[in-house]
Amino acid sequence: MLGEGGTALSKLQAAVREFLACEDRQVDNKELRVVIDALEGAFCKNARSSEQRGQHLVGGNITAASWIARTCAMSVNSAADRLCVGEQLEWLPTVAAALASGEIGYQSVSILCHLREQLGEKRDLFDEDEMLGYAQKYSVFHLRQLCNVARHVADPEGFFDEAEENFTRRRLHISQMPDGMYRVDGVLDPVSGAAFKTAAESLAKRLGPDDERSHKQRMADATGELANHAMDKGALPRRHSVRPHINLTTTLEGLKNELGAPPADLELSLPISTRTLERIACVCTMSRVLLADSMVIDVGRATRTVSAPTLRALRVRDRGCRFPACDRQVDWSNPHHIIHWARGGRGNLPNLVLLCYYHHRLVHEGGWQVIKSGREFRFLPPDRLVVKRARGPGMRWAA
Ligand SMILES: [Zn+2]
Ligand SMILES: [Zn+2]
Repeated sequence: MLGEGGTALSKLQAAVREFLACEDRQVDNKELRVVIDALEGAFCKNARSSEQRGQHLVGGNITAASWIARTCAMSVNSAADRLCVGEQLEWLPTVAAALASGEIGYQSVSILCHLREQLGEKRDLFDEDEMLGYAQKYSVFHLRQLCNVARHVADPEGFFDEAEENFTRRRLHISQMPDGMYRVDGVLDPVSGAAFKTAAESLAKRLGPDDERSHKQRMADATGELANHAMDKGALPRRHSVRPHINLTTTLEGLKNELGAPPADLELSLPISTRTLERIACVCTMSRVLLADSMVIDVGRATRTVSAPTLRALRVRDRGCRFPACDRQVDWSNPHHIIHWARGGRGNLPNLVLLCYYHHRLVHEGGWQVIKSGREFRFLPPDRLVVKRARGPGMRWAA
């Protein structure tokens, strides 16, 4: 056997060294994979054999998986997978032979072995020949789905218990990094994950042929858009009698972008650029706070930068984002001041245009200009080489 006494393993190591030293080797990928998978099967049997002999206990390791993970530079999950396969192959000689001969790959074998292990006392329902046939016929992805269904049919209670155990692993961690960006890390249950993925992907389509964002960037923007939309709609539960919102604090000088003015603060902690400040100020509720020697002496009434009647009229006029080729609809668009109100622009219809979250950012932070020409809007990119004409109301763009 491989590894026994070192002789067979030494020969294998020498053969591998010779193979790797060959510079112009012409190797068929599939044949190479067969060899690797067959060796993976041999590793599984070897690991299982070590576990049965209690080799891991010698070094004080509680589990064979942690011992193999440490000694073989693997994750504990990978080591546990190999041990499971090694154990189950003892009962599945036909599957083991199919792996050794390259009829099926290691991943398929692993799926079958885990299914048999999960069935526990109902493992007699596992028909080796039938399952081997499925492994030969289906891709790894579809075999996994089929095994999930088989598991549910054979053992609905066990399936439920496992799903509930998996549910306890759900988590979401959102942390702010030193540069102000946020890191999101999490695991969602199948239903919430599918809902989140579906909702984000519906917002992550390219917004026109010139949308150069990567899919990952569009998904990140979609997540921000979802959160902003939920807050804008005012449908989220109040906390301490106040609707969820983000606070932006600035001075009059900062708002006018005067030389030497201090930057605006997001949530009283993070300085943000003047361009971002202007974008947020296009669509906000503003409260004036008067200070004297750092003491608050007056707080004005909260007013929106665009009044409710004007916003209604703007939504009827523009019906969605007016950036060329963008099909974001009215509920997902916000008013932009063509001349910002801090520089004397007015919050009335001629000075306003609806833009989606992405194109509003493109105009402020991306340096695009919006020029009103009669009833049309022209959008000029920062290099001013291309002039695009916006679609008129009622015209939708279709990719
Ligand atoms: Zn704006
Ligand atoms: Zn848009």
